[in-house]
Amino acid sequence: MPTGFAGEESPDLWPRLPGTPRPELVEQDVASLSGVGPALSRKLAKLGLGTLRDLLEHRPHRYEPAVPERRIADLFAEEEAAIAGVVRSVSLRRPRRNLAILNARIADESGEIAAVWFNQAWLEEKLKPGTHVRLRGQLKRGGFQVRSYDLNGVAATADFAPVYPASEEVTPKRLRGLVARVLPLARDLPDPLPAGLKAHEALPLRSDALVALHQPHSLAEGEAARRRLAFDELLVLQVGLARARAGRETDRAHALGAPGELTTRYRELLPFELTPDQEHAIAEIDRDLEREAPMQRLLQGDVGSGKTVVALYGLLRAIESGLRGALMAPTETLAEQHFLTIEPLCAELGVPVALLTRSVKSDIAEAGIVVGTHALIQEGVDLGELGVAVIDEQHRFGVEQRRALTEGRAPHVLHMTATPIPRTLALTLYGDLAVTEIAKPPASRKPIVTSWVTAERSSEAYRRLRKHLDDGRQAYVVCPLIEESETSQARAAEAEAGRLRRAELSDYKVGLLHGRLRPAERRELMAQFKAGELDVLVATTVIEVGVDVPNATIMIVQEADRFGLAQLHQLRGRVGRGAEQSYCLLISRAREELTDNAQARLQALVDSTDGFELAEKDLELRGEGQLLGTRQSGLSDLRFVHWRTDRPLLERARTAAEELVDYEGPLADEVERFFGERELAA
Ligand code: ADP
Ligand code: MG
Repeated sequence: MPTGFAGEESPDLWPRLPGTPRPELVEQDVASLSGVGPALSRKLAKLGLGTLRDLLEHRPHRYEPAVPERRIADLFAEEEAAIAGVVRSVSLRRPRRNLAILNARIADESGEIAAVWFNQAWLEEKLKPGTHVRLRGQLKRGGFQVRSYDLNGVAATADFAPVYPASEEVTPKRLRGLVARVLPLARDLPDPLPAGLKAHEALPLRSDALVALHQPHSLAEGEAARRRLAFDELLVLQVGLARARAGRETDRAHALGAPGELTTRYRELLPFELTPDQEHAIAEIDRDLEREAPMQRLLQGDVGSGKTVVALYGLLRAIESGLRGALMAPTETLAEQHFLTIEPLCAELGVPVALLTRSVKSDIAEAGIVVGTHALIQEGVDLGELGVAVIDEQHRFGVEQRRALTEGRAPHVLHMTATPIPRTLALTLYGDLAVTEIAKPPASRKPIVTSWVTAERSSEAYRRLRKHLDDGRQAYVVCPLIEESETSQARAAEAEAGRLRRAELSDYKVGLLHGRLRPAERRELMAQFKAGELDVLVATTVIEVGVDVPNATIMIVQEADRFGLAQLHQLRGRVGRGAEQSYCLLISRAREELTDNAQARLQALVDSTDGFELAEKDLELRGEGQLLGTRQSGLSDLRFVHWRTDRPLLERARTAAEELVDYEGPLADEVERFFGERELAA
């Protein structure tokens, strides 16, 4: 591996470009395009397309397969084909508002035809008589309807037309038009890679990669382009992580010495023996806390594997050294749940705990441990001398945010995550942390038995559920997933709870938990369920994380085929938290009505309770699509990375990043941009 590319200037950076890139051009709002008004801007914004750069970087999720090329005289109706010819004349009609019909006479040596574009008036000036074009489309009444085109006569778009992630409001075709218009600006985006690195990695120029991404001459060229852009993303990410690591090298924390009396009492207070994995985690944490270098450790373990017990140990280590502990969770529900779990234990130990969220502002002055949401690191909150901070399910890219917790003497930080992620992804996201895994749950816990039943047998499922209730256990019923909005989801859940109260669960006390409840209502409901005042909790996915009621031993998930694998696994983790055998019943439509993918998801859950195994399976089934279950980890922000195959690319980016930590220029700007935006988004 040759070194030193970081320092090289980049003479070949823009070999074909007169003048310098003008990044300000690509940062313009999409509304700066003529023909893009406020309405379309809003629709594009919903797709995450706010600037011209967003359009440039909108990745096609596939390409149309190539079609045969025909002479114009040989075209026959309805067959999709490509033609090549010269523009003879062009005309534009606007028969009514919102409709522009662009007509061009195209000729080749065999004949002439009218090519038709709808609502692409801006193309008129590009279709000057004499222009060579290559068009892909279909012969219909009225002419050759163009699906995609290339105006230089080079075989490109017309064959491998990009198909973009679109929405009902903005069609892929519309997007194709918009992207084609901004594509000339590809050269105005600075190339973050130092020239030497590009040469060494044999990667194309970024601008060429963008052009090839949207208008490849072959599928292989499109893939090579994607890989170059994925390399950029991975490099930016790895440089950011390397910087975070380097930045912390000078940080100093309080060295906490050996465990003391308080943590000894804590261990005695626990009604169970710690598992070997928990002991191992604690030993690693103890070793970290002895040092002045701040701990940066990730505690990874499936739901219910006993991470919180370990985290509290860490917090108490701070208290016994005369310092404070803080636990930060991503949502109010989760913060409240942590508070409810920790507070009684701490009360017995004589350690005051305070809760601090947007809606609950308790006095933290006397508290030894403060539990909260982002509110914890807001301006004006004085956490005092923080010894240990635990960050649960942290949005991984909030690097600056994590810094905010660490003004002055840095605390030791323990990150917790219950989102099992495949190894490649873990390496990507947690490259700057030491990792401890709790692999085996407490032995007292029996693996959850999962069954998959179809809707016509749902009465049987409810009979099983009532049996548990009659034995004094509690249960969850998860409502069907409704995508539209939190409000419609809540409304549907209300209707479903009402139905169950009248029918299957008429003899039981049923509570309803959804996202539209006020925090106080939600708290009250959770407390009631925990206290056994409710038999069943009918809930939306808001119970996905943080709910811990060991007496709940059965869960029914309705229309389970609509959920993602990771999400179902998280949901299922709400049961099986006590010593009793627990059950999860997944109800779906008839098998024949399900897609292969949905069947595979449900079967995977029946077959395994191992989160890591399921995460790998999820990745396999989902391909490079949006990684839903990992939304909060920021993974979905990496648009070009293909998780199943890019492991070698990741390794290369990691190696390169080591040398580029201090590299200035466009790469540094990209790192700022990426991590800076995450901060704003959080
Ligand atoms: P996680 O945070 O990983 O989801 P928790 O620490 O909340 O897991 O533990 C889940 C449940 O298991 C809690 O009810 C907890 O009291 C219990 N638990 C934790 N460790 C053990 C253990 N070693 N033996 C028995 N039960 C345990
Ligand atoms: Mg927990």
